[in-house]
Amino acid sequence: MNLFNFLTSDIAIDLGTANTLIMYKDRIVVDEPSIIAIDKVSGKVLAIGHKASLMHEKTNENIKTIRPLRDGVIADFTAAELLIRGLIKMLETSRPLFAASHRMVVSIPSGITEVEKRAVRDSCEHAGAKEVNMVYEPIAAAIGIGIDITQPNGTMIVDIGGGTTEIAIIALSGIVCEQSIRTAGDVFTRDIVDYIRREHNLFIGERSAEQIKMMVGSALIELANPPSDYEVRGRDLMTGIPKEIRVTYSEIAYALEKSVSKIEEATMKVLEMAPPELSADIYTNGIHLTGGGALLHGLDKRLALRTKLPVHVAEDPLKAVVKGTGEVIRHMDLYRAVLIR
Ligand code: ADP
Ligand code: MG
Repeated sequence: MNLFNFLTSDIAIDLGTANTLIMYKDRIVVDEPSIIAIDKVSGKVLAIGHKASLMHEKTNENIKTIRPLRDGVIADFTAAELLIRGLIKMLETSRPLFAASHRMVVSIPSGITEVEKRAVRDSCEHAGAKEVNMVYEPIAAAIGIGIDITQPNGTMIVDIGGGTTEIAIIALSGIVCEQSIRTAGDVFTRDIVDYIRREHNLFIGERSAEQIKMMVGSALIELANPPSDYEVRGRDLMTGIPKEIRVTYSEIAYALEKSVSKIEEATMKVLEMAPPELSADIYTNGIHLTGGGALLHGLDKRLALRTKLPVHVAEDPLKAVVKGTGEVIRHMDLYRAVLIR
C-alpha cells in the first residue's frame, strides 16, 4: 500500500432524494433519510437523517426541516452540503482512525445536467472530498445486484426512488437508452394524501401516507398474498377532530393507478427504443427492479403482465445503488469506463 492509499479513505455515496447511504470498506456505514432540521434563527443544524425526519411536519416557528434534493438532484445547495458534511461526520466519530482525506464516488441520475453535476461535485468538495468521481445510478444499480455490466449483454434496470424513476438499458459499461420520469415514491405518497382527503374526508400527513404506502401500497387491485388492512390517523376535515380509519390495499392500488401506469408507459418506451440485439438479451434476462418503489406490492407482476417479460425485484432494492457504487470505488481500474469526471 502506498502512502496515498494509506492517507486516503475511499467512500461511496448514494445521494438520493429520499435516502443517503454511504459505503466504506465493504460496509454500509450510513443509511439515513436525506433530510436535515435547522434552527431558523441561528441557522444551526439541529438534526440530520432519522432524527430530522421524526421532526418533519411537526416543527414550530423556530425549526425547519429541509430535504435538499428534489427529483434526484440538489435543489438546496447549502442544505445539501450540510447533509453530506453531517453524514460524513457520523462516520468519522464512529471510526477514530478514519482518514480525513476522502476520495469519493457518488451516484447521480442519468438525466442530470452539467450544472447539476457541478452542484454534486462542489457539495462533496466542500464537505471534504479531495477527489470526486461520479457514476450513473442505473449502472450502479446493475453492478449492485451482481451483473457484469462490462459484457456485451443487455441489462434493463427500472430504479424507482423518491423523486425519479430511472429506466435504462445497459451494455458494455454504458447506457444505451434511458428515460427518467418524475413519477416515483414522493408522488405515490402525495397520491395517497389526496385520495384519503377526497374519499375519507381525512387530512393525513406525509409520514402517515408513506407508512400506508410501505404497508399496503399496491400496483394491482387484486393480489395473491394481500397485506392486511392498515389503520391511519389524521384530522377529520368535517369536524376538525382527530380520527382513525382503516384502508385496504385495493383502495391504495386505485389511488396509485395513474402514477403506476406512468412508470409502465415509460418502461414500454425504453423497450421500444432498444436496438434489436439488446431486445433479444432482455427477452432472456428480463427487467430488474431496484429502489424503494420496487417494494410496492404486485409491481413486478403488473410489469410482467404488461411486458410479457420476466421481472425480478432486487434482493435489497434500497441498497442496490450504494452497493454498486462501493464496488466501483473498490475496483476503479475495472470500472474506469463508467466514471464521470
Ligand atoms: P432515493 O434513491 O430517491 O433516495 P430510495 O431508492 O431510497 O430513493 O427509495 C425511497 C422511496 O421508496 C421512498 O419514496 C419510500 O417511501 C419508498 N419505499 C420504501 N420502502 C417501500 C415499500 N416497502 N413500498 C413502497 N415504497 C417504499
Ligand atoms: Mg436512488
